[in-house]
Amino acid sequence: MKHLAIVLLLCLPLCSAYPVHGAVKEEDQTMDLAQQYLQNYYNFIEDVKQVFRRKDSSPVAKKIQEMQKFFGLEVTGKLDSNTLEVMQKPRCGVPDVGHFSTFPGTPKWTKTHLTYRIVNYTLDLPRDVVDSVMEKALRVWAEVTPLTFSRLHEGEADIMISFAVRAHGDFYPFDGPGNSLAHAYPPGPGFYGDVHFDDDEKWTEDASGTNLFLVAAHELGHSLGLFHSANTEALMYPVYKSFRDLARFRLSQDDVDGIQSLYGPPPSSVDDSMVPNTSLSPGPGTPAKCDPALSFDAVSTLRGELLFFKGRHFWRRSQWTPQPEYNLISAFWPSLPPDLDAAYEDSSKDTVFIFKGNKFWAVRGNEIQAGYPKDIRTLGFPPTIKKIDAAASDKEKKKTYFFVNSKYWRFDEKSQSMEKGFPRLIANDFPGVQPKVDAVLQAFGFFYFFCGSSQFEFDLNARMVTNILKSNSWLLC
Ligand SMILES: [Zn+2]
Ligand SMILES: [Zn+2]
Repeated sequence: MKHLAIVLLLCLPLCSAYPVHGAVKEEDQTMDLAQQYLQNYYNFIEDVKQVFRRKDSSPVAKKIQEMQKFFGLEVTGKLDSNTLEVMQKPRCGVPDVGHFSTFPGTPKWTKTHLTYRIVNYTLDLPRDVVDSVMEKALRVWAEVTPLTFSRLHEGEADIMISFAVRAHGDFYPFDGPGNSLAHAYPPGPGFYGDVHFDDDEKWTEDASGTNLFLVAAHELGHSLGLFHSANTEALMYPVYKSFRDLARFRLSQDDVDGIQSLYGPPPSSVDDSMVPNTSLSPGPGTPAKCDPALSFDAVSTLRGELLFFKGRHFWRRSQWTPQPEYNLISAFWPSLPPDLDAAYEDSSKDTVFIFKGNKFWAVRGNEIQAGYPKDIRTLGFPPTIKKIDAAASDKEKKKTYFFVNSKYWRFDEKSQSMEKGFPRLIANDFPGVQPKVDAVLQAFGFFYFFCGSSQFEFDLNARMVTNILKSNSWLLC
């Protein structure tokens, strides 16, 4: 039904064959829609129909222009089809202009540790799913700021999260299914910082309904003091965008810049003195790719690209981009922890296996596979092995090597079992390579061993080191 209404509105200027009274009715509907939208999101208090009747539509046109400008539409000041289309889309209930700017200054939290409480639940999802979605949505912001969050089960938290329908005790009643999905208040005491979700939406974990994670992460941005962004790539863009591949979700640089303008970057994970102030470095606390002392936690290929993991970030080198791209791990795989131990790609399965401690994950593209993380003991490691240092797969021979301290294990991909006779000493079978190994990359028929800031190119057939490089030689330093 809703789709039908949109089609009718959009074809309005073309459908001259409609009976006159039908066209008038549709024009009325268009006016009502514009009235609601401009009133809700652009603080427009006049009556749209009356303004049009006065034959001086400039106040409405001005508001429409403001809206068109914000959304990057052609600024016509008219209710054209593109404008009406945007007005119909599900969106955040916080206005695009004006509402919070009446507060002096830019509201932000004056402390870095915040509490949150999930006051009630939607019936659309199991409670533990809602819990983990909120945690994940908060982590999106915690990753790029010094902010930390802890959950309260009772009493007054800084951020009170609730689900409600229609009128729910504030001046912003929800509107049933579609259109306004949620709203949130900027930082401050009492109801400030709180997030309300419209429970007339069908909240889902995937993209089949309204994805709770995407909306929660956006609303929490408001709770932390961010306003809407006109950048269509930004999480803080006011229109809900459903992602077919949800794991592909990432905070845009615009969002990161916004939140860091309020709270600064996260506390340093490396020595700040080693970070040169270059435009490529996204800020203090991030490792510099050309630091001669740079080492990596893990290195892997992924669908023809090279991934270099360090702390909570990774560099991504593809043949399509001249410069390595620098990303947050959590922006690509929100449930992966930072400070990884090892990673390798099994290209026959189009899967990258990622290790930390006694756990490992299987990822395909941006998606973490179901059933993970698993315990590394399921691969055949004895219980004494609590973590591995590095892993690499020999594609031709279908063998995967796991390096732990001065030894290595070998896994047979065909039989899916650890081979007998292992572990063996790295020093015996990979002469010239320094134990202990941080990361190993399989590329061009070689194994590249990363040991601190040095890298050993090892020819598996000749069983010798053929080159010694700086670890960051791949990052075009
Ligand atoms: Zn919003
Ligand atoms: Zn509310």
